[in-house]
Amino acid sequence: MAIPKCSFCGGKLPATAGKMLVKNDGRLFYFCSAKCERNFLLKRDSKKVRWTQAFRKLKGIDKPAAEVKA
Ligand SMILES: [Zn+2]
Repeated sequence: MAIPKCSFCGGKLPATAGKMLVKNDGRLFYFCSAKCERNFLLKRDSKKVRWTQAFRKLKGIDKPAAEVKA
């Protein structure tokens, strides 16, 4: 079974932790931490929250480690 990604921050779910949320319409959401779950339930847009991968991707911040060092 593939490890799902966090629906808010986009990070990997820990092997023995995390939560799955099933909405009444059948949509699935996964959360790696209570921080992500709370931010999601507050209806925050992950593209506007600075510490998420969605934000980093949007702003073009994410670069491979080799590029950052150089
Ligand atoms: Zn997360």
